[in-house]
Amino acid sequence: MIDYHNILERINQTVSKEKDKGKIASYIPELANVDINNFGVHLHLVSGKEYAIGNSEQKFSIQSISKVFSLALAMSHIDTAIWERLDVEPSGNPFNHLSLLELENGIPRNPFINSGAIVIADILVSKLKNPKSDFLDYVREITGDNSIDYNYKVAQSEKETGYTNYAAANLLKSFNNLNNDVDVVLDFYFHQCSLEMSCSQLTKAFYLFANQGECLARKSRLTKSQAKRINAIMLTCGFYDEAGEFAFEVGLPGKSGVGGGIVALLPNEFVISVWSPGLNERGNSKLGMQALEQFTTLANQSIF
Ligand code: GLU
Repeated sequence: MIDYHNILERINQTVSKEKDKGKIASYIPELANVDINNFGVHLHLVSGKEYAIGNSEQKFSIQSISKVFSLALAMSHIDTAIWERLDVEPSGNPFNHLSLLELENGIPRNPFINSGAIVIADILVSKLKNPKSDFLDYVREITGDNSIDYNYKVAQSEKETGYTNYAAANLLKSFNNLNNDVDVVLDFYFHQCSLEMSCSQLTKAFYLFANQGECLARKSRLTKSQAKRINAIMLTCGFYDEAGEFAFEVGLPGKSGVGGGIVALLPNEFVISVWSPGLNERGNSKLGMQALEQFTTLANQSIF
């Protein structure tokens, strides 16, 4: 039997000795108000057991991790028609890169770069009756936790400084790949990114991706095939222009966000979330990546 408790303790020891914790994202001003010393891990086995260390119950801004939830909800509404407006190739470029979008005629490389997530937001704005509250209900339901909410200050802060996202949305509109108004779609997108969740809540929410589409409450929210495809996109596109490095070091599908969170999973086995707000140069949590590398090495568990 794997001694997960011991493995998490060892990770905590290594991380606490690390002097260079990376840099907190400040391009969304409201994100800069976080203590860089926060560190938490939560592990949830598909069989039900849970293990945690550090600030695993503290909520933080999940940012791009929310793109997995919006993709899942969009797929459960229109499934394969999504892929007429989006591709599933890694971009090899930063998350907010625009030149590829122009070269490739307004078809974003994948749903996890910003332009792709904005197309998904457009789909949800078209499909949902009350987009922001329906999306929030969906995340609360798959997690089994009604305390999850948007951080309106963070959403407003991003709205005031989100010039590149406005540029991406306008470019999409000029290529006829955005059906709703730019402002309406971005308002949804900024709120989606402002969701605050803890490591513990994130592992519960991602349980359905590790459990073939069935969430913790035993409800089927995705087909087995949809869960498989979302995991594949997490593996190839979940870590900005560092997806190759993450697969190489950690070997799990997952998704990161500029709030310093990372969620990763081994289908049918476990979900693990890490939070350390300091980022590396590519925008992924520096100590979070290190912790997950140590975890899959010590537990000897990865998809490879
Ligand atoms: N809301 C952020 C943005 O669009 C998300 C960035 C991220 O976590 O990758 O810039």
